[in-house]
Amino acid sequence: MTDHVLVINTGSSSLKYSLVDARTGEAAGSGLAERIGESQGHHVHRGPDGETGTTAKIPTHEDALRAAIEAFESHGPSLDDVEIAAVGHRVVHGGSRFGAPALIDDDLIAAVTDLVPLAPLHNPANVEGMKVARRLFPDLPQVAVFDTAFHQTLPPHAYTYAVPRSWSEEHGIRRYGFHGTSHAFVSQEAARLLDREPDDVNAIVLHLGNGCSASAVRGGRSVETSMGLTPLEGLVMGTRSGDVDPAVPAYLMRELDLSMDDIDQALNKSSGLQGLTGENDFREVSRLRAGGDERAALAFDVYCHRIRKYVGAYYAVLGTVDAVVFTAGVGENSAEVRAAALSGLQRLGITVDENLNAAQSKEARRISPDDGEVAVLVVPTNEEWQIARESLNLVRSR
Ligand code: ADP
Repeated sequence: MTDHVLVINTGSSSLKYSLVDARTGEAAGSGLAERIGESQGHHVHRGPDGETGTTAKIPTHEDALRAAIEAFESHGPSLDDVEIAAVGHRVVHGGSRFGAPALIDDDLIAAVTDLVPLAPLHNPANVEGMKVARRLFPDLPQVAVFDTAFHQTLPPHAYTYAVPRSWSEEHGIRRYGFHGTSHAFVSQEAARLLDREPDDVNAIVLHLGNGCSASAVRGGRSVETSMGLTPLEGLVMGTRSGDVDPAVPAYLMRELDLSMDDIDQALNKSSGLQGLTGENDFREVSRLRAGGDERAALAFDVYCHRIRKYVGAYYAVLGTVDAVVFTAGVGENSAEVRAAALSGLQRLGITVDENLNAAQSKEARRISPDDGEVAVLVVPTNEEWQIARESLNLVRSR
């Protein structure tokens, strides 16, 4: 029997893959095809012999997956030797229907297609990825792992927006939440680090990457999260605004004669750090701030203030908190964000040890003092591993 899962993450012009040992999380081979459909595409494959890159036109997602299969054959590891147990797909929006991973069949593809209006930037590509993989791996079970699924345990008072009932009842307007695979992985790892069972731990998880989201996890179940109907709500992100007064779009439409699409685009693509500083990459903002740039300094403060506000809110939601957990690119690497976001919270039992926080490491670790009431942790996320585990569990339980 094999424990390897081929994990696929399909974007509108990219296809990322990783052949993961679901037991250990180790990736035997992985790669990324980018600029699919453009005049010049690029494919990088990492196997046992290191990394190989190819620049050539990649007309379709099917061509991208074929190139991946060929790269496994030429550069290893051979897919025949590894014997894949399942193909696991990252699917962004599963709506209210999917609270767990599910086997991919025609019905599931139809359901994910029906959800395209809720995730127009992501679900069409995810559907394409599932179709292509079913064609190229017709004999393997294929599993959809949804970004929204972990948050399907939110209670009604947390997922319901106070809007006309018909909006929610007829149009599915509610909080769904995203990054669920990461929040699930990180909260489990946090429990492991604390040497406790996940159902015995209350955690506030802060996923700070290009997209950013917070969640309150009670005993291993998500009970509140900052992203909403779409991934736009909540924390300040690389290019997304996070929370703004919902009246802002109407005001801009009236006063500036902007279209709804213009505003949607601006809030998703040219807001957040990008809107405040002209740079969406946190490292760049950090560099500007260190050089005395006032706009970058304000952006940093807005970013950290928003995180702190959510920590306070989720503390109140949970009542007791065992751990605050940082993850993803900024959360795992930026000691200054972790320190600033949690400063002054000693009365809540939250303290960050300056030296532990400053130490660079790729390992999951504690950055609060040993006697700190609330453990402050840094846990590197691994969504591929989580998708592999969930996919394998599902196919083994059939
Ligand atoms: P994604 O959400 O696309 O998976 P990541 O989790 O890789 O993104 O996070 C990307 C963000 O992490 C970027 O804003 C990047 O600047 C930031 N980041 C990466 N490394 C560091 C670092 N050493 N210090 C501060 N920020 C970092």
